[in-house]
Amino acid sequence: MIYQRSSALFEEAEKVIPGGVNSPVRAFKGVGGTPIFVKEAKGAYLYDEDGNRLIDFINSWGPMILGHAFEPVVEAVINKAKKGTSFGMPTEIETKIAELAVSMVPNIDKIRFVNSGTEACMSAVRLARGFTGKDKIIKFKGCYHGHSDSFLIQAGSGASTFGVPNSPGVTQGTAKDTLLASYNDIEGVRKLVASDQNEIACIIIEPVAGNMGCIPPHDRFLQALRAICDENDILLIFDEVMTGFRLAKGGAQELFNINADIICFGKVIGGGLPVGAFAARNEIMNHLAPLGPVYQAGTLSGNPLAMAAGLAMLNELNNDESVFNRLAEKTTYLHDGISKVLAENNIIHTINRVGSMISVHFDEGKVVDFDTAAKGNNDRFKKFFHGMLNQGIYIAPSAFETWFITDALTYGDLDFTIEAVNQVAKTL
Ligand code: PMP
Repeated sequence: MIYQRSSALFEEAEKVIPGGVNSPVRAFKGVGGTPIFVKEAKGAYLYDEDGNRLIDFINSWGPMILGHAFEPVVEAVINKAKKGTSFGMPTEIETKIAELAVSMVPNIDKIRFVNSGTEACMSAVRLARGFTGKDKIIKFKGCYHGHSDSFLIQAGSGASTFGVPNSPGVTQGTAKDTLLASYNDIEGVRKLVASDQNEIACIIIEPVAGNMGCIPPHDRFLQALRAICDENDILLIFDEVMTGFRLAKGGAQELFNINADIICFGKVIGGGLPVGAFAARNEIMNHLAPLGPVYQAGTLSGNPLAMAAGLAMLNELNNDESVFNRLAEKTTYLHDGISKVLAENNIIHTINRVGSMISVHFDEGKVVDFDTAAKGNNDRFKKFFHGMLNQGIYIAPSAFETWFITDALTYGDLDFTIEAVNQVAKTL
């Protein structure tokens, strides 16, 4: 494939934007080469500035669960835009999407909308601290909760790709309040809680980790976390920025039948516009300003275009009884197909999958936490990435990311992808 125009556009971008991108993983630093500039997208396909068509397995890192330029979302945004794009005053549509979200997600009474997943997680932790009167938090190595200071301690996603899981600029004072555990290691969590008794406000976790590849929680791991939280007056925060409205209507809480205390959302909830949200029961949410003392605000929070896109998306997901099964079936088909051709080509691999999240690791051991994810053969991943790109398939430009399956993919697209893996496997 030819990427002349993308290369030229990247050179121009580098002059005026740090690294040429507005979010680091986009720069292809993890895999080498020049990032692709998108011109437009429809359904399961991206069309780049050089006229190439790519089957998209990233889908804006999750939001486009029903495909790009999904008609009801586009219509809703156009219609809203004609009536004004921001007021900084309440609008009815904010209540409508809040009511719908509260009806879909278990165990929440109220939801507050913000503009990104980062803001959602940052605000959720502040609320947990304000509610409990405690300062420390526990997070898991390799989990990513956005780029706010408390979370850039052994963070996953781009932070891992670039080898800066701890960012300069995060003060020692902030870092000391973030305690680290290993994903799926309940004993490690018990030890932390025992040594910092009565100081821990919350445990924040991706209920299915998606920022070190896709890593499912071990059987009973989330339940054990729930029990530890209950025994120690710690709030359990599920960061469902990836899993919310993706793994089920009610997200991971519904899938695993477990209640968290605060739930963070992003990605799908905004239908592709900049939206995040956090939600909880009344007793917790009523601590937020203006009802309570925990401050949180936003000029563009609840923005009408963003709410229109999110409402159209959630309505669609709420009304389509089979969408989550369809997504899981497509992902299972892809999993089985890729597994088969990699095995036939004698390529050592492990594939992890939950619902419509999936990741391919070039290592034979189980991938259960950050350390096992980091063991994968990164050189092979880079070759795999570029090989797939040459076949017209766009996967995440880093081994530390999950792929997001969209319902717009046909089985023909999946067969094409599996055959591409077969071809690429011969070159690895
Ligand atoms: N939490 C999780 C689980 C995420 O995957 C991400 C982003 N990939 C975030 C939080 C941060 O969201 P945003 O990029 O919208 O700030």
